[in-house]
Amino acid sequence: MSNILKDELLLTAPPLLIGALVGWLANDIALGIAATLLTFSARHFHQLILLNKLISNGKEVQKPYPTGLWGKIYREKSLQQKQNNKLKQNLKQFVTNFQEASTAISDALITLDQENRISWANPAAETLLNIHWPSDSGQLLTDKVDYLFLETYLQQSDFSRPLEFSLPNNQNAIISLQVTSFGKMERQHLVVVREITQLFHLNQARRNFVSSVSHELKTPLTVLVGFLEALNDAETLAHQDRPLELMQQQAARMQLLVDDLLILSRLEIESKTIDEEPLAIGTLITEVIEEAKLLSDAQRHQFKLKIDESLSLHGNRQEIRSSFSNLLTNAVKYSSPNSTISIIWAKNSVGPYFSVSDQGDGIAERHLSRLTERFYRVDTGRSRESGGTGLGLAIVKHALYRHDAELKISSKIGVGSTFCCQFHHSRAIY
Ligand code: ADP
Repeated sequence: MSNILKDELLLTAPPLLIGALVGWLANDIALGIAATLLTFSARHFHQLILLNKLISNGKEVQKPYPTGLWGKIYREKSLQQKQNNKLKQNLKQFVTNFQEASTAISDALITLDQENRISWANPAAETLLNIHWPSDSGQLLTDKVDYLFLETYLQQSDFSRPLEFSLPNNQNAIISLQVTSFGKMERQHLVVVREITQLFHLNQARRNFVSSVSHELKTPLTVLVGFLEALNDAETLAHQDRPLELMQQQAARMQLLVDDLLILSRLEIESKTIDEEPLAIGTLITEVIEEAKLLSDAQRHQFKLKIDESLSLHGNRQEIRSSFSNLLTNAVKYSSPNSTISIIWAKNSVGPYFSVSDQGDGIAERHLSRLTERFYRVDTGRSRESGGTGLGLAIVKHALYRHDAELKISSKIGVGSTFCCQFHHSRAIY
């Protein structure tokens, strides 16, 4: 038997006995017991009323506590109240910290409900987007930032890329808007807006600089190559042959580099692809494989194909061709003679994909995320030796980006690598 129950019995039994004794003395035991029970009921009723009052007015339970079971109830209630108070205090502190942090941050933070209505915004949202919280609470974000492309962006569910645009109240300022879904079924959104004017102009200046330099280099290089060819055809002294050959090789390398830099600049500067058309990818792949076979030449790589001829794509011919060709060229360059190169053109749940798998040395995990950076090479010597410019994968990444596609790379040391261009269904022609 629990201590509480024992205490309660000890509290109840003596008065009952006394009641019975008094009743016996007055010749009515039942009346004595009934009177005592009535007193007990009145006590419990009184405690019930007190407890109800306590719960409804939210006051703290004060000592001394009653004896027995009621005492236990009051002690439990007091413990609960203390725990709740602590929780409330922690929550209050958390909210204060969050508010202070969100006030200190220079990025605008806005939360939207399922209908893209503003539910909260920090003070920076006032400066950047003229959104005032709490007065703008419940308003549609698209009413406050009235751009058609923002409405389209919010309606789609792919927020993997930020939206960049100039400020409604200041056309000179560029902002980046990134959406992250959260909450139940990810139906609420956190919008992070930051000013990127300086970064944007810096990037633009870098792009323009690379593009101008490449353009400026192109003409003198063509002249140099022309004269070198003429010299090569003319009669030369024996000791001049080797330097001439080296000069020709290096000039050709520089031409490749300038060409790749120009392609990359164009891909970066123009935000959207032009000249898009339905592409018969099966035929296009056959063409690039023929080129890869020429490159492989005496190395006799085996080409294993799995091509879905019925699957076509809507895109820019030159950009798609250059992407596929770069991947195939790399597979030939970085795998051993006689090894197999597998090429797949098929579709999965995301959309069509083109993949090239080789049986080369493979690439260590730490390099994978950096391979598409300009001039990033795992083995600089080998890349130069094979005539690489170090820009191939950067070109692939940008060309795919413009087709809303993604380059996925997986590799295992000693086994080989797979480079996969993953397109979306929206680009496919089934
Ligand atoms: P590069 O002109 O040097 O080949 P890329 O941009 O095409 O430039 O590739 C960058 C680097 O990625 C290469 O230098 C090489 O180290 C690595 N790489 C690319 N493709 C493969 C592959 N199929 N197997 C192993 N390494 C590769």
